[in-house]
Amino acid sequence: MSTTFDCVLVGSGINSLACGALLSRAGWNVCVLERNDYLGGAVKTAEITLPGFHHDVFSAWHPLWVGGAAHGELGGELAARGLEYLNTELPTGTVYPDGEAAFLTTSTDGNALELGRHAEGDAAAWRDVVAGFMPRADLAFGVLGTELWSRAGAGLGVKSLRALGRRGLAEFGGELVQSSRDWLTHTFESERVHGLLAPWVLHTGLGPDAATSGFMTKVIAVAIELGGMPIPRGGGARLVDALAQLIRDHGGTLETRRDVTRVVVVDGRAVGVELADGEPIAASRAVVCNVTPTQLYGRLLEAAAVPERVADAGRRFRYGRSEMQIHYALSRRPDFDTDERVSRTALLHLTRGLDGVSRAVNEADRGLLPAEATVVLGQPLTIDESRAPDGRWIFWIQLQELPWHVRGDAADELDIGDGTWTESLRERYADRIQERIARHVPDFESLVLARTVLSPADLEAANVNLVHGDPYSGSLALDQNFLWRPFAAQPGHRTAVDRLWQIGASTWPGPGLGAGSGTLVARDLLRPAAPVRLARRARARFARET
Ligand SMILES: Cc1cc2nc3c(=O)[nH]c(=O)nc-3n(C[C@H](O)[C@H](O)[C@H](O)COP(=O)(O)OP(=O)(O)OC[C@H]3O[C@@H](n4cnc5c(N)ncnc54)[C@H](O)[C@@H]3O)c2cc1C
Repeated sequence: MSTTFDCVLVGSGINSLACGALLSRAGWNVCVLERNDYLGGAVKTAEITLPGFHHDVFSAWHPLWVGGAAHGELGGELAARGLEYLNTELPTGTVYPDGEAAFLTTSTDGNALELGRHAEGDAAAWRDVVAGFMPRADLAFGVLGTELWSRAGAGLGVKSLRALGRRGLAEFGGELVQSSRDWLTHTFESERVHGLLAPWVLHTGLGPDAATSGFMTKVIAVAIELGGMPIPRGGGARLVDALAQLIRDHGGTLETRRDVTRVVVVDGRAVGVELADGEPIAASRAVVCNVTPTQLYGRLLEAAAVPERVADAGRRFRYGRSEMQIHYALSRRPDFDTDERVSRTALLHLTRGLDGVSRAVNEADRGLLPAEATVVLGQPLTIDESRAPDGRWIFWIQLQELPWHVRGDAADELDIGDGTWTESLRERYADRIQERIARHVPDFESLVLARTVLSPADLEAANVNLVHGDPYSGSLALDQNFLWRPFAAQPGHRTAVDRLWQIGASTWPGPGLGAGSGTLVARDLLRPAAPVRLARRARARFARET
């Protein structure tokens, strides 16, 4: 092989960059290979509407990164390379069809006041949620930040048993699998409050009636209060730039337009990869693939490399609902026909509420274009004015309730053609969403300078990991989540091939910018070998006893 690195990372998504940064600053010689012409995967900032309008084309909101372990470890070094986070006290809100709105702020008092405005008892209910969550925050966040299928996972279980007792742990387990609907309706009186929090389950790839969605809603709600809605000044790509620079500064290599077509396995051990042009790249310590299971087991690994049972299960990995992005360049900040706080809120949801989200999810699951989608409407300029020319405005819109194969239109309005995401279907569905926005912003049409829409098919074409336009690279149904992610026959990040690891949104702890899987694998790779660990433990015991 022509070039040898300690570690070759396939793909340059956030998990690869975090993993590569952690390894390279520990002295590993890493190489990141990316098939696209830019680094960052689902983190990309570009002027995709008009010059001067800097849109986060895919992901935009960074609370998971800022609250994550990788940022904890690398934050200072990234700041030294130009990364700066900005935040807001008005992170999220929901706007209802009647023009009413509800908000979540970054203070418990503020939230108690706001929720109490909708139903008196909900003020105390919110305080109880926060007070009940905080003592177990370590456990809740610990579950999401631990390699569950490992000694550390078992250790977390034992620690929790000691802290909570058998009964307490059973209660926590019950909470973990509860649906969002059950949690919300049994905790808060006001339907406005249900509608404020329920749309957040969409950001975890779930719907409000799915198992575990209640736990996810609670974790996100408290995390937003604690962390707000941070975004990098200048766009998400500044995080990518800083991570890439960190890797380069430690001698690492990052290359774009390098499609990896094969993981080279010799005697059951991964020794490198092969590129589309046939060039081999050798890895002496690890090959880390940030790819989906369908790619890993259907393209990169030869049949003989892993047991057929595992390969077959990998190829049958399921994807979740599809997604659409709409980007607007606007002539000025829009005036919403509702509470003035709406125009200052970073991330809004337009919905009828819990049942509205549930209905749209159900329609999408049945192959229908939802009659009334949950519109996720982001306003990055509420936090970072550098994203557009003076006085101008940007809307970042996400629609997470769409089918891949369109079987019909729940509103019975659009001609769905052959059910594929053609340009015409994309634009006509975006028109429907534009009309929804115009119900709250009466002069909206006149503010639009440009619009760029990405259909599920466009998302898949932009990033091979977004199979079927699923923004989360795999269904997060319980049987593909937690202990079973990516899939039960091969959970965790180690694979059946020695020195071959899988990371990325398809793997635990799933999607989002927390870089959880990249961090877990880097830590595992950097763990001293067993004899060194034993010697260290013996030395520590000796020091304690003498
Ligand atoms: C539209 C959208 C909006 C989102 N919004 C948010 C948000 O606001 N906040 C949030 O926290 N999360 C958000 N998410 C989720 C989050 O962005 C993703 O879960 C996360 O970025 C995925 O990172 P990753 O490390 O799994 O890799 P990805 O970002 O999926 O990148 C993988 C990279 O690997 C490359 N690759 C794959 N196979 C090969 C190969 N064989 N050879 C070479 N290169 C290869 C791909 O080209 C790609 O660039 C959003 C996702 C999408 C799609």
